[in-house]
Amino acid sequence: MDRVIVVGAGVVGLSCAVRLLEQGHRVDVLARDLPLETTSAAAAALWYPYRAYPFDRVAAWSEETYRELARLAGDGRTGVVMRQGTEVHRSRTADPWWSTAVPVLTRVTTMAEPYVDAWSFEAPVVEMPIYLPWLVSRVEQLGGTLTRLALSALPEGPGAAVVVDAAGLGARLLAEDGSVTPVRGQVVYVDQVGLDRWWLDESGPTYVVPRSRDIVVGGSADEGEWNRARNPALAQQILARAIELVPELCRAGVRGHKVGLRPTRPAVRLELEQRRATRVVHCYGHGGAGVTLSWGCADEVAALVGG
Ligand SMILES: Cc1cc2nc3c(=O)[nH]c(=O)nc-3n(C[C@H](O)[C@H](O)[C@H](O)COP(=O)(O)OP(=O)(O)OC[C@H]3O[C@@H](n4cnc5c(N)ncnc54)[C@H](O)[C@@H]3O)c2cc1C
Repeated sequence: MDRVIVVGAGVVGLSCAVRLLEQGHRVDVLARDLPLETTSAAAAALWYPYRAYPFDRVAAWSEETYRELARLAGDGRTGVVMRQGTEVHRSRTADPWWSTAVPVLTRVTTMAEPYVDAWSFEAPVVEMPIYLPWLVSRVEQLGGTLTRLALSALPEGPGAAVVVDAAGLGARLLAEDGSVTPVRGQVVYVDQVGLDRWWLDESGPTYVVPRSRDIVVGGSADEGEWNRARNPALAQQILARAIELVPELCRAGVRGHKVGLRPTRPAVRLELEQRRATRVVHCYGHGGAGVTLSWGCADEVAALVGG
């Protein structure tokens, strides 16, 4: 079995590390930002294929991840919960391109103005402050390591026979790939006021994702925007949109804010590149769906590494 260096400790790098360790490899994860400091920590993180391409590969990865997250929801330590929810639309809309990835998708015909169409389905909701540390504990239990290290290039040469590049937006530098660009997202955390269903309206986008102790309210999607400072005016707009969608939120106090930069690319890059003596498996560019694609992609990375 090979020694594998995984670059990146977001949801993608950690999921790849777990699968590679399960396959019997020795795995060391190197990352500039530790898991709770990454974009992944800002994710809402509802299973939903958003801003990730191409549709055929994304639908397959999403379906595989759905199954794995549904399995993990049976273990209370993971922070994964299956929740019923509703996606609303302001015009008549065909079934989504990923509809086969969820077991049951039901049309809702009784929506009030301004919504005219909706569908309801059960989806995994992943509480990232619990899930990311759980993934780290899996890596460590399986004998892997996690080290903070900012790299100026992907490791190559002796001691780096196989490298998994799960650097997200960092692939702009590490893989010299200018096609990965940020799509800035901002969320507000509010008190849990007894909500157990998620809600999503793609216009905005606006989403309300209940967790055990709070509710994540989003959002925004600003292409090419690098600013990670909170925008207070945007936070007010996000809350107003969310209250329109879920009126109970009007009594929820604000607990905090977060901003993240989605690593977006015209197509997720998941492929093998031979660099002299080093085999590099690139796995980045998951846009607004890194959690949703994580296990499907990790399985494909493990298959490319082999063994
Ligand atoms: C507000 C918001 C809401 C979201 N909601 C959802 C959602 O509901 N569902 C969903 O599926 N997705 C959601 N996403 C998207 C999701 O967060 C991303 O797709 C996902 O986090 C990408 O994961 P990643 O592991 O590829 O990247 P990251 O989490 O960014 O991790 C990249 C890792 O690479 C490391 N790295 C980078 N450069 C270097 C370097 N030079 N040297 C060493 N290490 C380096 C970083 O330090 C980090 O550890 C949301 C995103 C945002 C911002």
